[in-house]
Amino acid sequence: MDRRMFLGASLAGAAASVIPSSVLAAFEITRTDAEWRAMLSRAEYKVMRREGTERAFSSPLDKNWAAGIYHCKGCDLPVYSSQHKFDSGTGWPSFWQSLPGAVGTKPDRQLLRVRTEVHCRRCGSHLGHIFDDGPQPTGKRHCLNGISLVFRAA
Ligand SMILES: [Zn+2]
Repeated sequence: MDRRMFLGASLAGAAASVIPSSVLAAFEITRTDAEWRAMLSRAEYKVMRREGTERAFSSPLDKNWAAGIYHCKGCDLPVYSSQHKFDSGTGWPSFWQSLPGAVGTKPDRQLLRVRTEVHCRRCGSHLGHIFDDGPQPTGKRHCLNGISLVFRAA
């Protein structure tokens, strides 16, 4: 086994521990790891399929205040509306709610505290995390990676 194969196997093993196969199988749109790698850039793949986090203030969508809909980059499902976007000052696009039924969540224990991970309900692509310090009416802050989204102006 060469180094490249070894790294690939390690990554596959890590992913399996992050998202149980039973959860993956439940998604309407499924792609093999090779298919995801082929359709996404390295940075997109790392965030969307390995639950990475883009650098704060790196996404142009953070300061995008145009009216429109944000779609999942993995499957084009409309997931968030500009109507629910606010400036959290964190450097990541932030919303106080998703579009109805557009996202799924799960506990994320990657750090010592448990956070709520949020992903596209149709293809499972990682979008970001949900925190309880958002504005009314929900009090939630969906802290998203702009790299996981495609914006379409209304
Ligand atoms: Zn999706």
